[in-house]
Amino acid sequence: MLRVENLSKIYPSGDSKVTALGGVSFDFEAGRVTAIIGPSGSGKSTLLNLLAGFDRPSSGRILHDSTEISKLSDAELADYRLRHFGFVFQNYNLVSILNASENVEFPLTLQGVPRAERTRRSKALLEQLGLGHRLTHYPSQLSGGEQQRVAIARALITNPSVILADEPTGNLDTRTGKSILDLLLKPATEGKTVVLITHDPAVAELAHTILRIRDGQALTGEF
Ligand code: ADP
Ligand code: ADP
Repeated sequence: MLRVENLSKIYPSGDSKVTALGGVSFDFEAGRVTAIIGPSGSGKSTLLNLLAGFDRPSSGRILHDSTEISKLSDAELADYRLRHFGFVFQNYNLVSILNASENVEFPLTLQGVPRAERTRRSKALLEQLGLGHRLTHYPSQLSGGEQQRVAIARALITNPSVILADEPTGNLDTRTGKSILDLLLKPATEGKTVVLITHDPAVAELAHTILRIRDGQALTGEF
């Protein structure tokens, strides 16, 4: 389980400050997909970036199982993220000079996994995601939905216990978006913690839990 306690993030903005998150507490449960929803500028990306350890909270704590990740040093955090977290970026963020298989292998390279095993695992996962015929294609040769599947494969290849996704279906048509969402629902059935940001009510409806954010606050209660 991934827990945030009284999490806040304040950005400097010229001479003043912007409170992007104003003390959010929430449990992201294992085995569930949690959708973070809320208006633009409400703090969704800030929260996801803090969960991923891409950025540091101004105050509050982030706990993953028994580890307080907000207390780790930069080097420890990078190592922890590589071992436990998978991240799916909004605009895929694939490396343009690497083909689909090489993109997926990349986190394994960082983990020091030998080449033969990397290639085998990447191929097996891409085949599972229906991309067996696209292994040596470069990102520019792939459709949006295919690029997103490669990005998801890259997030899943290390078998992380937490998967974080920023608008994973954002730029895709409804049908493609639904097939992408299925790929994120499956890890939850295997006990992983899945957190995604979405603007799409149809996507949020398929999540197990909804976290509503407004003006940097988590809204609770009935709606
Ligand atoms: P959302 O993802 O819900 O659209 P964000 O988390 O991106 O919202 O932003 C929340 C607020 O924090 C907004 O007012 C935004 O302008 C501000 N903000 C986000 N990132 C930064 C940053 N790096 N520097 C300054 N202000 C930021
Ligand atoms: P979205 O509308 O998709 O949520 P965001 O508003 O979160 O997109 O912006 C995307 C990126 O820009 C984030 O990494 C965020 O940190 C950064 N960002 C957002 N607002 C600001 C800002 N006012 N100043 C600097 N960076 C910002």
